[in-house]
Amino acid sequence: MRRQRRVKIVATLGPASSAPDTLERLFVAGADVFRINMSHTDAEMAHTLVRAVRDVAAKHRCSIGVLCDLQGPKFRLGEFEDGRALVQAGEIFRFDQTGTAGTAQRVSLPHDAIFESVEAGHMLLIDDGKLRMRVIEVNGRGVVAEVVTGGILSNRKGISLPDTLLPVSSLTEKDHVDLQTALKLGADWIALSFVQRAEDIIEAKKIIDGRAAVLAKIEKPSAIEEIDDIIAAGDGFMVARGDLGVEMPVERVPGLQKQITRKARSAGKPIVVATQMLESMTSSPMPTRAEVSDVATAVFDGADAIMLSGESAVGQYPVETIEMMNRIAREVEHDPSYDAFVHAIDIPKMPTGADAIAAAAHAISSTMKVAAILCYTATGSTALRVARERPNLPVIGLTPIARTAQRLALVWGIETVLTGDPDDLAHMVRKATNIAYEGGFAKAGEGVVIICGVPLGSPGATNMIRLAFIDEHGLPDGHSPDYVPIGGKVPVERRVPSKIAS
Ligand code: PEP
Repeated sequence: MRRQRRVKIVATLGPASSAPDTLERLFVAGADVFRINMSHTDAEMAHTLVRAVRDVAAKHRCSIGVLCDLQGPKFRLGEFEDGRALVQAGEIFRFDQTGTAGTAQRVSLPHDAIFESVEAGHMLLIDDGKLRMRVIEVNGRGVVAEVVTGGILSNRKGISLPDTLLPVSSLTEKDHVDLQTALKLGADWIALSFVQRAEDIIEAKKIIDGRAAVLAKIEKPSAIEEIDDIIAAGDGFMVARGDLGVEMPVERVPGLQKQITRKARSAGKPIVVATQMLESMTSSPMPTRAEVSDVATAVFDGADAIMLSGESAVGQYPVETIEMMNRIAREVEHDPSYDAFVHAIDIPKMPTGADAIAAAAHAISSTMKVAAILCYTATGSTALRVARERPNLPVIGLTPIARTAQRLALVWGIETVLTGDPDDLAHMVRKATNIAYEGGFAKAGEGVVIICGVPLGSPGATNMIRLAFIDEHGLPDGHSPDYVPIGGKVPVERRVPSKIAS
């Protein structure tokens, strides 16, 4: 299955999308990566979801990414007797630590740090700031607040305290347990919530030890202050606009989104734009025009991925929402102005073989008509440097490592094919042309650019670029010196690639 778009779609799983057949429909509709939000998912459910994703991937012979999003030191309300309760402006509401189900007058708040630090006058922002309360009293039995902006409170909604200094570490006890679960299940990406400084990422990376890539969610003012160090430390990033727009004035979010996207793109690390992208489709089959424009902006900015949260996790139209996102992305990428927008940022080259060769591949593809760039990649880093250039043709990552292919599912423009290391240079060219031809990326007579590192199979040694033309058998054309068979018999490899990423 081929997507006909370069930006990737991340779909959050939840009650609306966890059934295996729904999850498969989400994939068919366009989801490239599934996000498991550990705030709302226990270990058993996470196991069921990962297995379902891997089953869909195996059935469709493609690589799908799994992103496990750790809750981080996010504070959430307890649960309500009826799952929800309506509170109105001017009413008094109480937070306690009884652990019992809440009502319209009170709810349990299972976080000691809040009771230790909050003071009268501090604001409490609930459900991404939709509801606002001001603390009027803190006493031995709880926190008493006046509702400033009312609305519906519901189970486990987030609560932020912008005025309160909370002494917390970035990985909570729950995160440590969830992280072990995610690693055991083979998650491809681990998202860290409420990252404040590069050390938070470094600490998590020590534990993860290369078993998954680390995606830092940018949602705190302190992360914005240290964004360059954070980008240097992380493997990928998310503009987590929900909490970012609570922790900082909401009108700053669009500018920050652009700055973070540019910085991550320039570093060649994937950037995900998240939250409320098609929010109204949670309960409506059609988005607002403003939402369509919001999705389009992220695509024009060259983000690697755009994400759905509640829309796919608990919405009434999870499949339709992904179809809509897919349609918007495809349309934008075919807009005549897309290329100019996406290349409007400076991509500084590092003095490395990978950057020199990625730039050369891009230059070749802008100089003459070639059908695809095929890139042998063990860790995914060469493919990332090629994607960083945002070339206007398919980039196919050829890798023997399933984990690499799954991680690359989050990256702009990369389609992956799982295939073994080639035996020698002639085989490398033959294999690449054959995969391009069989996978429908290139037709007979078309050229492809092939990138690899020699000696073959050695990670981090990108040093070769080859322009090859494809004959009617999907092989390098007969004029290609490394294809002239010795001894007469043409070594035709007609094997269909083992997996073709959508
Ligand atoms: C966000 O805040 O935008 C976000 C994606 O994080 P969460 O869904 O964990 O609130």
